[in-house]
Amino acid sequence: MKNTIMDRKNINRRFLIASYVLSLIVTYIVYSTGGTKNVYTNLMYIPIAIISSTNGLKKGLIHAVYSGLLLGPLMPLNVELGQSQTVFNWIIRLVIYLLMAFIIGFFSDYSRKNREYILNLLTHDALTDLRNIESLKREENHDKKKKTIIALTVKNYEETLSIFGYDFINKSILTFSKKLNELLNQFENIEIIKYNGMEFILIVSHENNYINTDAIINSLEELNELTLKVNGIPIYIETLVGITNISENENVLEGVRQALVALRYAIINNKKRCFYYANLDTYYKNVVDIAANFKSTLALNKIRVAYQRIVKSESEDIFGVELLARWEDDSGNFLSPGIFIPVIENTELINELTAFMINKAIEFCSSNKDAIVSINFSPKAFNDENINYLINLIRENNIDFKKIKIEVTEEILLNKEKAIKYFNILKEHNMNIAMDDFGTGYSSYKSIGEVPIDIIKIDKSIVGKICESKLSRSIVESIVYFCRQNGLETVAEGVETREIAEICKEIGIDYLQGYYYHTPTIIE
Ligand code: C2E
Ligand code: CA
Ligand code: CA
Repeated sequence: MKNTIMDRKNINRRFLIASYVLSLIVTYIVYSTGGTKNVYTNLMYIPIAIISSTNGLKKGLIHAVYSGLLLGPLMPLNVELGQSQTVFNWIIRLVIYLLMAFIIGFFSDYSRKNREYILNLLTHDALTDLRNIESLKREENHDKKKKTIIALTVKNYEETLSIFGYDFINKSILTFSKKLNELLNQFENIEIIKYNGMEFILIVSHENNYINTDAIINSLEELNELTLKVNGIPIYIETLVGITNISENENVLEGVRQALVALRYAIINNKKRCFYYANLDTYYKNVVDIAANFKSTLALNKIRVAYQRIVKSESEDIFGVELLARWEDDSGNFLSPGIFIPVIENTELINELTAFMINKAIEFCSSNKDAIVSINFSPKAFNDENINYLINLIRENNIDFKKIKIEVTEEILLNKEKAIKYFNILKEHNMNIAMDDFGTGYSSYKSIGEVPIDIIKIDKSIVGKICESKLSRSIVESIVYFCRQNGLETVAEGVETREIAEICKEIGIDYLQGYYYHTPTIIE
């Protein structure tokens, strides 16, 4: 934007100089054709029109006076006869010039202001009045300084705030942007750009090799201790940042792209901060590829299903199976669900995977009458469509509802109301619900007690250390104690050795799952 303004200023200055020269030429023409008695005085309208339309009212008026005086008292009416003009004559001419400059200059200023207003709308965010990304696109020539670009957002802001509505989101964005402004005010070399929703871009220019990026990034930490108050409601915020450095020759927009790639990585991988590096582009491309290719992979039967047996602790008889999704790539390798599920969970595709896994579970139940079949449900897969689909399919295939177990992670408890609503529906139909990966994340006995679940699956990260770590063992013991007291059953995940199995049995865990008993096997 600055660039085009500079261009325009230069052009206008040239028009200004040209007009002054043109006025002198007109003066010469008027004099050499015999004075103001002739029609050539009208030529003076041309430079006045040029200057007023290009340089505005003020410069137009000054030029009108200048031109009026050039053809003023010193310019004879008739050069040959040496006859002067009357005062009235040249004054009236000057007034006409002024009037003309006024009209053209006024409207030219008016339309320039309109243009500036529209440009401002285009280059600033309407809500926060911060510069937007569009303004960066217009700024082709940057200042040839090294820069650090930081993309910043608030974790889960849409999910958290959407329950309060659009107006509330806007207010919180505004409150947050003010806080950000206040916080960063202390740094002179930083510019805040508003990106989408609650996403901001910070451009830090490195002034003469003085780099205060660390101080800036650290000061952003203060935002995490902040509670935004919107309409009296406190909102706890957690910021996530993606960071990159660009050289003096790199385009700022390329820096913004890199910072956003790093930010996306931080979001998907649950990290607070991520620095950009070239491999992230490949990662990002993979993420995009996963999202873009999931549907066709599903259609080509390349999304496969593995089952893993779960055994009863005492008898080691088979209790049931857990179905696990697999992505078969072109070379026949299986991509871990840990890679593709977090990607598709952020899209509508998770519903397609869920429906597919429900179909597979029904097929498995139909051909293995006694098996209890577990399916993993992402929090985002809990919606009327998927739950109705599951219930109808079980019914149509005459399968005992008790044979189906839904595994959920604690993440679902972030929206307890929703969890309770769907858990109740599942329980009304006598289905089993298991809390997966218990013992990691924000496990809370209180939350668990508030939702109707049947089984707790103790995470493999704790079970795996049960032999050597006293702490792990005591955590498992306390989980088992809690479950016993509350009528919940327990499954130990990640039972890899006989030793682990023995300790789990000793502690009194009900069911065991892990490589020791069965490695996940693709269903052909
Ligand atoms: P999960 O539900 O905790 O599944 C158990 C994971 O532990 C599986 O990883 C399984 O292969 C692995 N595992 C089993 N026994 C052992 C063992 O003894 N030691 C160790 N170290 N690991 C063991 P997998 O198949 O890679 O799945 C990873 C996660 O992906 C699953 O964790 C589950 O959260 C998710 N997932 C898998 N399939 C689906 C699906 O259809 N839908 C959804 N929403 N998530 C799925
Ligand atoms: Ca599971
Ligand atoms: Ca698990």
